[in-house]
Amino acid sequence: MLNVDLAFQKLVGLVRPIGETERLVIADAVGRIAADPVTAPIDLPPFDSSAMDGYAVDATNLDSVAHFEVVDESLAGRPATHALSTPGKAIRVFTGAVMPKGANAVVLQEDVAKHGNTITTTEPIHRNQHVRQRGHDVHRGAVLCRPGTRLSHFHLTWFAACGIEEVTVSRRIRVGVFSTGDELAERGTPLKPGQIYDSNRFAIISLLREKAAETFDLGCLPDDPDVIANALRDASLDMDLLLTSGGVSVGDADFVKEAVERVGSMEFWNIALKPGKPLAIGTVGKSLFFGLPGNPVSTLVTYLLFVAPTIDRLGGQQPMAPLTLTAVLEGGVKHTAGRREYLRGTLRSTDDRPTVAPTGDQGSNRLATLAGANCLIVVNEARHNIEDGELVEVMVLPDEGAHLVVDQERALP
Ligand code: AMP
Ligand code: MG
Repeated sequence: MLNVDLAFQKLVGLVRPIGETERLVIADAVGRIAADPVTAPIDLPPFDSSAMDGYAVDATNLDSVAHFEVVDESLAGRPATHALSTPGKAIRVFTGAVMPKGANAVVLQEDVAKHGNTITTTEPIHRNQHVRQRGHDVHRGAVLCRPGTRLSHFHLTWFAACGIEEVTVSRRIRVGVFSTGDELAERGTPLKPGQIYDSNRFAIISLLREKAAETFDLGCLPDDPDVIANALRDASLDMDLLLTSGGVSVGDADFVKEAVERVGSMEFWNIALKPGKPLAIGTVGKSLFFGLPGNPVSTLVTYLLFVAPTIDRLGGQQPMAPLTLTAVLEGGVKHTAGRREYLRGTLRSTDDRPTVAPTGDQGSNRLATLAGANCLIVVNEARHNIEDGELVEVMVLPDEGAHLVVDQERALP
């Protein structure tokens, strides 16, 4: 059996970024991988502006009590027409408005006494107070993101603020998804004796929506090595990545590795991983191939650990270690050293360290305990049983990681 880290290293050795790009408007670029550096075309903000509602003044040589005559106003998008050319004048300003010429500080409106057209200040006024300097967020020409950055909503918002309309990104990775198994039925049809519904193909296609991928549902293959080999060879002509599920363990009807050997080559399989031991990785033509295990939880775990980062890497994304947390284990888990195990768990924040508890039966067919989980508890291959109260490493599952989660138990009255 191949250790998980070693398997991942071998996989990284097989992955070459596709290096093909396209131009997209930023509205279509969320989740895509930048292929060129993006630089700021302007200073941001583009002019000195007021950070508050108040009065723009010249802070040079003022007495502790100062009187000003208000001679003009500057609103956001409607600059003042006058400059402050003589001492003792002020210009009414609002948040985001251009600082009038000759002004270098803003006095808050709540800090002045107003009599008709005159204001009086009693607090010291410092140069640059409540002024946003031109370019203080970013200077023209600064790098906003490097090639290989996955573009988040927040990067793209920054680009929008700089007036950037288009970016160059890697083209989507073309992923063909098959399931295999004579027992599999399509949703919406009644089950015949011995059949189960195909959930793996659905699961993978659904997760692929989060990726910079173009997904092709290539259907379900029978347990027949000829049919599987032909289907993989045909699909490899168009795809960067081929995924199957099922048929990679050691049963009599497990033909996938054999089929891959006929039309491509198997690189490695049998990984010291639980769930997901039968995961098999190879190539067919110019496509990378993943034979994911058939048990639904094994499919999902191997997808998250191996397939998802491969898609990122094919798109040229900089490799990133998964974000993990340390949590206090509630309840203890049984584990025999040998394989790295990923247990479905519920992570909760507390006033102290976060806690995590397994969601129940960890059988690799049990979707109930996956649907109820928000994380995977990582149990290293060298570990034995872990006791209640010990610290464990936890990987947050994608949905939870992507959103700010409101603790509903606390939020409810
Ligand atoms: P296999 O490795 O093909 O023997 O599959 C292992 C287990 O996973 C068997 O119980 C299969 O019925 C089940 N399985 C395989 N493929 C799927 C699928 N696409 N959806 C749901 N269960 C599956
Ligand atoms: Mg099967």
